[in-house]
Amino acid sequence: METITPNWLQKRADLSPERTALIFNDQSWTFEEIFKIAKKTAGKIVGLLPRNSSRVAILMNNTPEAVWVIYGLQQLGIETVFLNSKLTASELAFQLIDSETELIIYDRLLKNRANELSEALTDIPIISVTDLAERPTFEIAIREEYRLDDVCSIMYTSGTTGKPKGVLQTFGNHWWSATGSVLNIGLQENDSWLCAVPIFHISGLSILIRSIIYGIPVILVEKFDGKLVNSLLSSGEVTIMSAVTAMINRMLSEQENPSYHPAFRCLLAGGGPVPKPLLEVCKERNIPVFQTYGMTETSSQIATLSPEDSLRKLGSAGKPLFPSQLKIMVEQEEAKPMQEGEIFVKGPNITKGYLNRDEVNAASFKDGWFSTGDLGFKDEEGFVYILDRRSDLIISGGENIYPAEIEEILLSHDEVTDAGVTGIPDKKWGHVPYGFVVAGKPINEEEIFAFCRERLASYKVPKRIIQVDQLPRNGANKLMRRLLSQLIENEK
Ligand code: ATP
Ligand code: MG
Repeated sequence: METITPNWLQKRADLSPERTALIFNDQSWTFEEIFKIAKKTAGKIVGLLPRNSSRVAILMNNTPEAVWVIYGLQQLGIETVFLNSKLTASELAFQLIDSETELIIYDRLLKNRANELSEALTDIPIISVTDLAERPTFEIAIREEYRLDDVCSIMYTSGTTGKPKGVLQTFGNHWWSATGSVLNIGLQENDSWLCAVPIFHISGLSILIRSIIYGIPVILVEKFDGKLVNSLLSSGEVTIMSAVTAMINRMLSEQENPSYHPAFRCLLAGGGPVPKPLLEVCKERNIPVFQTYGMTETSSQIATLSPEDSLRKLGSAGKPLFPSQLKIMVEQEEAKPMQEGEIFVKGPNITKGYLNRDEVNAASFKDGWFSTGDLGFKDEEGFVYILDRRSDLIISGGENIYPAEIEEILLSHDEVTDAGVTGIPDKKWGHVPYGFVVAGKPINEEEIFAFCRERLASYKVPKRIIQVDQLPRNGANKLMRRLLSQLIENEK
């Protein structure tokens, strides 16, 4: 039997109308208020859509208006395509055409990008949130129920490994993701979740959805700012925050107080590797880091290190959350403890597939297990360690080398502010690792070699260290290792 739940925001507004739902700068709204605004926004959007429309794209940063539009579209049961505001117009055009979007809503700060888009895609209507607010409000019948199998959101993966793919996230995926997370970190009366990650990524959207399901406020920040975040974490207002490594680094370097307010109980760190030295600094400063592993396809976290294990399993992403399973495979066989292989995951939070990508879907799912393309291992107690993406693995003289491990060492050098490692073809070894580093002043290659030799097996020591002004990163600020070799193209 298919599973149906009542409309989530309507339910939340009925259960706890007076509770705070959203805080932005010095403004705040209750659940009853945001439900009203969402219905009104839905009534305005409806007037712009052809009958039976199914998809609307939003090009917006972290603002309350974006939240109204997201919740408004959910009142109509319209699938929302979340566009990354850092992408170029041609990258966005690909996603809009691929998803057959029928309307684009953008915020005023992205006007230039929107103008370029409207010139390139003349047949897709596009409107700013400011103009939307001026539109007449139609009487609408909101979606009273959600079928958990219906698609709620579509997000294109950031494309570190190839052409972006539209990940279909159903209401059920979001429901189980929220459930799995809360069964791990718990829920307290005073909880509030700081959202300083983009809401067009699953890390941000999942916070909004959890806020409705749990009945807790989201403190929304327009743009990550280390000082602002530090002051919020020191105020006692925030109990949970989601962050990626670059954010944590900035917070620590700008932090004046030795520790945060004791009410701050959970810093979910994921989206990419979190270097061990950083975890150690957090440990020293009593910052409650929960390492997590997840992806767009798993609708956010799928494994998280529980607090009771965080010290003895430093560097692990923990165990799969309650609704999910995770296994390591080596050539059709499940790996033994400590044996490295590919990570497969299964659970109700995992996407039902990529939009319009039958071949990729056929290759990615097997007996309900999703192949993540990531490599890792489990220890004897079943704790998962993420090594790297399969596509970034360097095989040198038959040995596996994980770029993330070398990058972690390079980053721990005082002069190095950013680092990337990739395999470069080599006659003798097949491939050898090259290190690309960003540093504040000219580096001494010999000194970095010596630093690496002290910390890494000799086959892992980069054969060359190349200093560059910046590393290739995509719209999600993720390192695109496959582009690193182009930085030395002219030398070949
Ligand atoms: P694309 O699939 O287009 O290459 P992407 O994988 O970067 O894009 P996301 O879904 O945002 O897009 O990122 C998920 C990926 O991030 C994971 O598959 C994994 O490679 C990496 N990742 C997430 N958490 C961790 C972690 N704790 N440690 C190491 N890597 C992680
Ligand atoms: Mg991916």
